[in-house]
Parts: sequence; structure tokens; C-alpha cells
Amino acid sequence: MENLQNLHMHSTFCDGRDTPEETVKVALKRGFSGIGFSSHSYMYYTPTFATPMKAPGDRAYRAEIRRLQRVYEGRIDVFCGLEFDIFSQVEVDDYDYIIGSVHYLKIGDEIVAFDRSAAVVKDVIDTYFGGDGMAYALAYYRTLATLPQYGKFDILGHFDIITKHADQVTFFDEDDPVYRHAAIEAAEALAGKIPLFEVNTGAMSRYGRRVPYPPLFLLRELRRLGFGAVITSDCHDNRYLDFGFDTARALLAEAGFRERYILTKNGFAAVSL
Ligand SMILES: [Zn+2]
Ligand SMILES: [Zn+2]
Repeated sequence: MENLQNLHMHSTFCDGRDTPEETVKVALKRGFSGIGFSSHSYMYYTPTFATPMKAPGDRAYRAEIRRLQRVYEGRIDVFCGLEFDIFSQVEVDDYDYIIGSVHYLKIGDEIVAFDRSAAVVKDVIDTYFGGDGMAYALAYYRTLATLPQYGKFDILGHFDIITKHADQVTFFDEDDPVYRHAAIEAAEALAGKIPLFEVNTGAMSRYGRRVPYPPLFLLRELRRLGFGAVITSDCHDNRYLDFGFDTARALLAEAGFRERYILTKNGFAAVSL
């Protein structure tokens, strides 16, 4: 694969397994031409994994990625990104790119985590949605549609992350027109505001999903709406740096995409699939 790149990667600066430098070395061995780190932004509402990114940790993160950028210059392009959670309240300057993601819902005064185990998701649905999984899905897409109000993002993160456990447990029917309408409505709200989305294989390596986010019907809609695609693995373990990339390319081709985007020193550029 030419122009092999992954812009959605976590490290020991948040909830990833490996140090950034260990991952750069693996990427070099695998023939990557570029990689980007996207640590989770600090979230005051989660006590655990985003804590290393609490200032001044975020400065240490940027300093380390910039150091790697210089050390590996000419061998591999290293970029410093951020996966910004919708409700984070952090400064986002001095990053090469920003992924905008929704991992939480705001319900009343509460910020509720749902990017968790299936048991936690069930609990969220029971507690806040009266056991109605579709109501939960619709709340997610309503939140996703508001993402541009919270910042300027280059890449829309894991469009349908709420399907994470879909191969194990059914909380809502993805073929239900009500579900599809809500997802498409969110895509329409985001069109022209966030230029790129990711085909994200993270749940394939981590949760045994057979398909990446998002599915074919959404890929077709995202293409219709003019979004560009990047392929990522939402990597938390560098053994899975390019996990499922062939599946992602095949799905994009099936949806009619001829190109995907990579980040270059001069910004995002289209390359052939
Ligand atoms: Zn995420
Ligand atoms: Zn991520």
C-alpha cells in the first residue's frame, strides 16, 4: 500500500500501550510513510485515562511528538494530533490536526460515558433511556450533529461508535429506517463543516467487530455529501497499526470512493485508494 498512513493512534500519553517512539519504529518497519498521534484530550469528567494529557502533560506530549518529528525526518512523517472529545475544555492550538469525537452524552447536568463495555452501555440505556436502545442511538446522533459548535475539526471520529458491540449484543436495529435516518441527518448536519471522516478499524482489532466504522450505507451518504475519507485503526497497541486497512479500502471502493486523504507537510492531500 503506497502512502501508508494512520492518523488515529494512542500512546502511553493517554490509554495506549506503547510509547510514541516504539510505535514510530514499528511504523517504519511496516513501511508507513507517515503517522499521526492523536492522544485523547483531557476530559475533566473522566478520572482515568485522559489524565496524562492534563496540563502540563499535554505540553510534554507535544514536545515528545515534535522531537520524534525531527529525529525521524526524511524517513517517516510524524504528525502531532489530538482526539478532542466533544465536552473537553482544553486549548487546541499547536496541533497538526484535530479529530473530533463523541464519547459522552450530556444528559441534564450529567456527562455520561457510553464508550465502554456492553454491560455499561446497557446500564446507560436502562438508566437514562428507559431501556429503549433506539432512543439512546438517536441521542447520540443528535449530539454528534452538534460537534462543530465545539471546535474546528479536520476529521470526524468513529461516526457510528455506538455500534461497537453490535456483533455481540443488539441494542438497536441498524437496518431500521429510524436509525438510518438519524445517522444520515447527522451526516448532513456535519457536511461542509468537518471535511474528512475516518474509516476506523479500531473495533475490529479491539472488540472483534467484522466491519469498520462506518458501514456501507453511511459511506455512500458521506460520499454523496462530499466528505473525504482517511483510513485509521484507532490504534492503542502497535501490533494493530494497520489492522483491517484492506477491508477499509475495499469498503470505500464499494461505496464509490476513488481516493483517500493523507496528511502531508503541506496539509491534507488526496491519494489513490
Ligand atoms: Zn475515540
Ligand atoms: Zn481514539
